[in-house]
Amino acid sequence: MKRTLVFTAGSILLVAAAIVAQNDPDLGFTDTPMLPGQPWHVHDYNRPHPPVVTPGTASTQDKIGKAPSDAIVLFDGKDLSQWGDDKGGPPEWKVKDGYVEVAGKTDLVSKQKFGSIQLHVEWTEAPNIQGKGQSRGNSGVILMSRYEIQVLDNFQSPTYADGTAGAIYGQWPPLANALRKPGDWNSYDIVFEAPVFENDKLAKPAFQTVFVNGVCVHNHKEVMGAMVYRAVGTYKPHAAEEPLMLQNHHNPVRYRYVWVRKMHGYDGKP
Ligand code: MG
Repeated sequence: MKRTLVFTAGSILLVAAAIVAQNDPDLGFTDTPMLPGQPWHVHDYNRPHPPVVTPGTASTQDKIGKAPSDAIVLFDGKDLSQWGDDKGGPPEWKVKDGYVEVAGKTDLVSKQKFGSIQLHVEWTEAPNIQGKGQSRGNSGVILMSRYEIQVLDNFQSPTYADGTAGAIYGQWPPLANALRKPGDWNSYDIVFEAPVFENDKLAKPAFQTVFVNGVCVHNHKEVMGAMVYRAVGTYKPHAAEEPLMLQNHHNPVRYRYVWVRKMHGYDGKP
C-alpha cells in the first residue's frame, strides 16, 4: 500500500514537472496561439518529441541520390546555374567539393517554378557545428517559397517538436527523429501536393509526404498554411507554380543532390 502511494505521488510530481510554462526561442513556447484541432501551442515546449529511429546503416544515398531520367536536376554538385537569391540577384551561397554551403544573407531560390513535385535533397552540417536549439544548423526546404520542411541538427540537441528536422515547421512534428549524426549526410525525399486556389479562395490545401533517411515522417499530411514563426500558418493565394527555396538561417548547412520530378499525369496535367 505504501509503495502504491509513493508511486502515485511520484507520478503527480512527474506530470506537474512535465507541463511547464516556457518561453525560449530555442526550447519552445507556451505563450503562442493554439494550433487548430490540436492540444498544443505553436512551437509548444511541452509537445512530446517523436521517437528516435536509427536509419538504415547501409548507405543508399549514393544510389538514390542521383537523379532518375525524367528529373530536373537543380544542383549536381558543380554549379548554381539553376538558382538565384531571394532578391533576384546571383546566389551568395558557395559551391565546393560537390556541395553548396549557406553563405551571405539571402536564401537560395530556384529559377524554375514548380507546383506539385517529388523532391530529393541531401544535407549535412558543416564541421565544428556550434549553437543550440533553433540556432544549431538551422536551414529549411521551402516548397513554393512558403511551405517549410525544417532542416536542423537536433540529433542530440533539444528544441520544440514542431521545429525539429523533418517537421512541417510550426505545425506537425515528424513521426520520427531519423537524423544521422552531424557530419553525416541526411536525405529528404518529399512528395508535395500544391494547394489549389479558385477565385482567390483555397479550394484544396497542400499535402506533404516526407521520408528522412528512408524513414516516413509524414504520410500525406495536410498543411495548415504558409510557414510562420510563433503564429498559426494560413493560406494566401499564390500562383500555381512558385520557386523552390533553401533557407538561409545563417548557419553553414550544406546541400547536394537536389532534383525534382514534376508530379503530373501522362497528359501533362497535375
Ligand atoms: Mg528552418
